[in-house]
Amino acid sequence: MELITGQDNPILRQKSRPVEHLNQEVYSLIGEMKRLMHENDGVGLAAIQVGRPSRIIVISDPDRNKDLVFINPEIIKQSRETETLAEGCLSLPNYENSIARPIRIILKATTEDGKKIKFKAAHLLARIIGHEIDHLEGILISDYPQTKP
Ligand SMILES: [Zn+2]
Repeated sequence: MELITGQDNPILRQKSRPVEHLNQEVYSLIGEMKRLMHENDGVGLAAIQVGRPSRIIVISDPDRNKDLVFINPEIIKQSRETETLAEGCLSLPNYENSIARPIRIILKATTEDGKKIKFKAAHLLARIIGHEIDHLEGILISDYPQTKP
């Protein structure tokens, strides 16, 4: 498995489908995603970035120094207050864009163990989750208003 790149790559523009069963295929995909994320010094990765249109994201938690896995993630609540920061993307090498995202979010998702959870995140972690969920909808950071140089 390797990283899919390119703003105009049709693979990255697909909408990912919900995961219905946690099976060996899903677990090996998650393992590969974690490996590629760390190998490329990324902080998050969506399955579509390795060419699989499944609603799975992995995140390297900046505060707890561990990997988080969210299956079928959905933001159910978000703060009106936003914060604007520059973001990069493993699928768009050498590109950055400043993006306004909610400071706080509440997420609904399934864990690797099949548990349904609600998860609160703020600041950088909320930003990474928002970025990865965008990938599940085929949205890239280059779709946001461009930052003036
Ligand atoms: Zn990305």
